[in-house]
Amino acid sequence: MRDPRYDVLFTPMAIGPVVAKNRFFQVPHCNGMGHAMPLAHAAMREVKAEGGWAVISTEECEIHPSGDLTPFVEARLWDDRDIPALALMADKVHAHGALAAIELTHNGPTASNLFSREVLIAPSHQPSKYGYPTQARAMDKADIRDYRRWHREAAVRAMRAGMDVVYVYAAHDLSLAMHFLQRRRNHRTDEYGGSLENRVRLLRELLEDTREAVGHRCGVALRFATEEMLGPEGVELAEARDIVAMLAELPDLWDVNVAAWYNDSVPSRFAGEGAQEPFVDFVKRTTSKPVVGVGRFTSPDTMVSQIRRGIVDFIGAARPSIADPFLPKKIEEGRLDDLRECIGCNVCVSGDNTISPIRCTQNPSMGEEWRKGWHPERIAPKHREARVLVVGGGPAGLEAARALGQRGYDVSLAEARRELGGRVTREARLPGLAEWSRVRDWRLGQIRKMPNVATYLDSPMTAQDVLDFGAEHVVIATGCHWRRDGYGRSNGLGIAALGGAISVADPVAAKLAVSAHPPVFTLDDLMDGRWPEGRVLVFDDDYGYYAGVAAEALRARGNPVVLATPDDVVGAWGGHTLEYRHVRKRLAALDVATRVSVNLVAAESGRVTLEDVWTGRQEHLACGAVLLVTARSPEDALYLALRERESEWRDAGIVTVDCIGDAQAPGMIVHAVYAGHRHAQELGAPRESEVAFRRHFHHDQA
Ligand code: ADP
Ligand code: SF4
Repeated sequence: MRDPRYDVLFTPMAIGPVVAKNRFFQVPHCNGMGHAMPLAHAAMREVKAEGGWAVISTEECEIHPSGDLTPFVEARLWDDRDIPALALMADKVHAHGALAAIELTHNGPTASNLFSREVLIAPSHQPSKYGYPTQARAMDKADIRDYRRWHREAAVRAMRAGMDVVYVYAAHDLSLAMHFLQRRRNHRTDEYGGSLENRVRLLRELLEDTREAVGHRCGVALRFATEEMLGPEGVELAEARDIVAMLAELPDLWDVNVAAWYNDSVPSRFAGEGAQEPFVDFVKRTTSKPVVGVGRFTSPDTMVSQIRRGIVDFIGAARPSIADPFLPKKIEEGRLDDLRECIGCNVCVSGDNTISPIRCTQNPSMGEEWRKGWHPERIAPKHREARVLVVGGGPAGLEAARALGQRGYDVSLAEARRELGGRVTREARLPGLAEWSRVRDWRLGQIRKMPNVATYLDSPMTAQDVLDFGAEHVVIATGCHWRRDGYGRSNGLGIAALGGAISVADPVAAKLAVSAHPPVFTLDDLMDGRWPEGRVLVFDDDYGYYAGVAAEALRARGNPVVLATPDDVVGAWGGHTLEYRHVRKRLAALDVATRVSVNLVAAESGRVTLEDVWTGRQEHLACGAVLLVTARSPEDALYLALRERESEWRDAGIVTVDCIGDAQAPGMIVHAVYAGHRHAQELGAPRESEVAFRRHFHHDQA
């Protein structure tokens, strides 16, 4: 059972009229399912309640059509018809003895109203935040009265849906309650603008309104951002101290963090566990009410220390609860080595930002609880006795072996190298990516407890080896490698100038190929310890995190670096994972020169030529080497060889051979883990439909 050191994490605590059974608090988090997929949403929250979280919150919840967040899919309480969808969640959360919380918000100028077509509203006239070519109009006194009424009505609806804690939201630069605080958004000259007291007035009124409306039954929480990192244009720590002092005893709970979202959910490349402490540690000293704070907490010792040192009362978590919905239960049961720690990759965030259901690198069942009936801890037993050979010990192979082992199959995992983890182990050595190794470590920890899973290192498998092994089911998870020919989104025939012409049958491309060019490297070279000399051109036609990480690694060794990309921005995918700003700042701090909208068109010894994709203008750049981050090729030779020999399978006792993960189609680590898990889930299970998951339908809306 649990270590008494952690007892404090399991003491109940009141939030106004309701009591949380322990100190684990799943703070609001987006999930890309929201009001559009209420069953999937409720099932996802339920799993966390089952896993021991005392409070489970919705994501931000729109209270009125004039605060419509389309295309983002969040919770919604516009009128009574929205109540049942949220009641679904509240009921599921209650079934496990947890409290349900809801984060009410009106996003003002940070809404879109693309669906409702209402006019945006704001403290003062201003452009909408997200680049839509529209402006929000200034709210008059009647608008402010309306807004307070919408908020009160939504609070009552939330209570009727069964919510136990109702939030007033003034964080992330995403709600009118916060926008009124900000000098840059609030230019009013009436009693709602100007002095701090005036700018706080609306927030105070909302708290009072909410307490009056539902405070007898629900805890009233305030989510408040103490710092925006924008200087005097934003909420600053000094002012936040005054605000907390002014409102100290008004809410039943303070939920504090920093804004905006990219400063709050910082990827592990840029912030470690507990990084927000210096921005929120004053709050508990200013109020007698309980405080919840976040910090990607996965270590129970850090959690205890946060509480003992008087920083927080509740351990707030979004990402750690996504990576391991059973984190509280595991600590309670003394199963610390089963904790599946978040790696801080922010793939979960990318679900919301790409308007698709949440997914997680560490927890492949996240978002699939209702869609596929997957559970983070349980899996169906094997369909019958069978031996399975998994080839390749990267994230796909490790997860397949682990989940197949959990199902009870007799599993052998063969890995060519002397170490397990594949790309995860290799990438984790690059700057800032050390936490990637948690993907390997958790799976290895689980596999080591399974007598039915054997791992073999130093075991490169050939097709003959696989046939000789004689397992009924074979899973090929042999990964991929980076291409050296420049082939990618912008160069469909490779980069001839670097000797990478793909179509040798094409005389034009063949003629273009030149012999003298700077040496070409790939990420595989760096990860294998082969480093270029001199100034390096990092050519990024991939747009993920690799080019930025490679540039950083090269700078750490002293190479001058130019990062060039045919895309119009550097590392565009990072916009979805909240990495973008942090990457740009780091590259700038490391003196990495950047060139956007350029293709690599020519090279000769000691220099390359970049061509602007819009103007055709060329720039020559002296460089000693080129690092190509363009595309990857699946390592599928073994799979193809086995398919060639399909006629021999039956004699060898082989029934199925499947290729998964990067060996099938290179992707992110999340895709490899998902592929491994999916393979294990589906082995021996008949496919009932071409559509492999449940969907929501709306036929009953006539
Ligand atoms: P994924 O992300 O799909 O899991 P990785 O590249 O991380 O892919 O891992 C693939 C692993 O497979 C690597 O560790 C590699 O060494 C191993 N591997 C590749 N070919 C073979 C082979 N023929 N036999 C055994 N292991 C192999
Ligand atoms: Fe953590 Fe990555 Fe999972 Fe998000 S997707 S919870 S950051 S491991």
